[in-house]
Amino acid sequence: MTFRFSTEGTEFQFLSNQAIRLVLPRVDDPYGPARSFSLSSSPSERGLIAVTAKMTGSPYKEGLKYLRPGERVLVMGPLGDLLFNPDRPAVFIAGGIGVTPFRGMLRFAADTGATQPIRLLYSARVPEEFAFREELDALVKAHPQFRVHYTVTRPQESQERWRGRTGRIDIPWIRKVSGELRRPKFYVVGLPEMASETVQRLKSEMGIPEEDLEYEYFGGY
Ligand SMILES: Cc1cc2nc3c(=O)[nH]c(=O)nc-3n(C[C@H](O)[C@H](O)[C@H](O)COP(=O)(O)OP(=O)(O)OC[C@H]3O[C@@H](n4cnc5c(N)ncnc54)[C@H](O)[C@@H]3O)c2cc1C
Repeated sequence: MTFRFSTEGTEFQFLSNQAIRLVLPRVDDPYGPARSFSLSSSPSERGLIAVTAKMTGSPYKEGLKYLRPGERVLVMGPLGDLLFNPDRPAVFIAGGIGVTPFRGMLRFAADTGATQPIRLLYSARVPEEFAFREELDALVKAHPQFRVHYTVTRPQESQERWRGRTGRIDIPWIRKVSGELRRPKFYVVGLPEMASETVQRLKSEMGIPEEDLEYEYFGGY
């Protein structure tokens, strides 16, 4: 679910695509009233910020769901240094809910007229779990320099018939998708295990140097 907050009357600013800590005004959760979220909105979307949360049924997430329109939340940040460089070709690698900052980066690239090619490789367990699917497909249609490649890791659990790629995001697929790009920057976001393994493989199997890598691990699940 995506939650949008007005920043009117505040001085909040961020870079594409940083994170925040979002503190709810009233929630009784054993792990407290705050969670970290990458922003799924772009700085080019003026006057608002958005977070997109995987709904787990935790008291915090339920509190988020039942915020009333107009209610105030405390936002700490911007945090994190996952920064998008629109001047270079980019390969975005998203595991599950790790797609959130990439929606913001693609929106930013589209809104600011960035011309560099961008490839998003996006994995989810089942196709129903893909967030922003319609919007991503529309962005690709409107901007031929963007491409989105989906893969499903547990097609047998899906209600929807899936005709696309199956299996995890692996190095041969990354090579295939990014092959034609000239010295792209690689961005990896997902749960710690998936994301750190992918970063290690990009370094050891593709020889990608640290300066060409940006990554964020979504701890806390
Ligand atoms: C930089 C960053 C960006 C993120 N961006 C997103 C995003 O865009 N969307 C999104 O959905 N999630 C994001 N997350 C994850 C998010 O912050 C939450 O941790 C996650 O959503 C789980 O929260 P929950 O309330 O659903 O689960 P819960 O199970 O209630 O866990 C919530 C918190 O409690 C802690 N916790 C859980 N079990 C224990 C335990 N046994 N002992 C001690 N502490 C425990 C976890 O570390 C976690 O911080 C991000 C995390 C990070 C670090």
